[in-house]
Amino acid sequence: MPAKIIDGKKIAEKIISEIRSKVKNMKEKPGLALVMVGSNPASEVYVNFKEKDSKEAGFYCERHNLDESASEMDLLNLVNQLNNNPKVHGVLVQLPLPKHLDEKLVTDAILPHKDVDGFTAVNLGNLLSEKTILAPATARAAIHLIESTGTKIEGKNAVVIGRSNIVGKPTAMMLLEKNATVTVCHSRTRNLAEYTRKADILVVAAGKPDLVTKDMVKEGAVVIDVGINRSGDKLVGDVDFDSVKEIAGFITPVPGGVGPMTRAMLMENTLKAMELSSKLK
Ligand code: NDP
Repeated sequence: MPAKIIDGKKIAEKIISEIRSKVKNMKEKPGLALVMVGSNPASEVYVNFKEKDSKEAGFYCERHNLDESASEMDLLNLVNQLNNNPKVHGVLVQLPLPKHLDEKLVTDAILPHKDVDGFTAVNLGNLLSEKTILAPATARAAIHLIESTGTKIEGKNAVVIGRSNIVGKPTAMMLLEKNATVTVCHSRTRNLAEYTRKADILVVAAGKPDLVTKDMVKEGAVVIDVGINRSGDKLVGDVDFDSVKEIAGFITPVPGGVGPMTRAMLMENTLKAMELSSKLK
């Protein structure tokens, strides 16, 4: 039986509409500041979406576009100003930054309770201590989509392909926290298929089109395709969707899977950041 398609777009729309209803009755609105440096076309698209989502959710949103040649000091000053702005509860600096800027330094300058991307050392560290305040949106999206299928994560074999600090590692940590047995694969993994074939849950975040094919997937598995790759004028994931859907139990499409869900999780994180800031007042 072909896999059920996990409709990330629909689930995300429901979440944003629930947030909108909540925010409607609030006197003070959640505030999100979006910072972009330079004019990377993909980043421009992502930031436009985030701005659109926050308006749809009824948030206060401000956008800052710095010139490609902005210095580290310019960017750190802006982050500091946003950290101190009471109307702004969440600060997001769109990555990647131009090469002359130190991403880690800039990310870590965001106050942990305003770090809606969950990329600061403090928030990533909190994932290890199971005291997560703001967790990375894409990892949260993957977990949410797995659970939307009714699959219980506890006791399952979960394989994550990719070990980046912003996607692979946080997703693996969150699966572990939910009591899956987790294997993390990466570019030096020998015989990838040997691991993926054992996966009840397979999360793929490598940025390599068609990396996962039908012969690599266990029958009935939940397959979450995080990858976003350009193929001509189309966007494709890391999974060969047409073949893998023949064997998987559930699968996310690209586009329309993890992408919109990540954006919805970012809106949730902003709402959470506002709640955190009111506790710190
Ligand atoms: P990175 O390039 O930082 O990490 C990619 C990871 O995949 C690395 O750990 C790398 O291994 C591993 N990898 C690469 N090639 C292979 C291979 N052939 N076999 C096994 N592992 C491999 O990317 P990100 O984590 O930032 O993003 C991953 C993908 O997810 C990208 O396509 C990105 O566009 C997409 N993305 C999607 C989001 C969404 O909302 N849907 C959000 C964020 C990212 P090694 O560490 O050894 O180099």
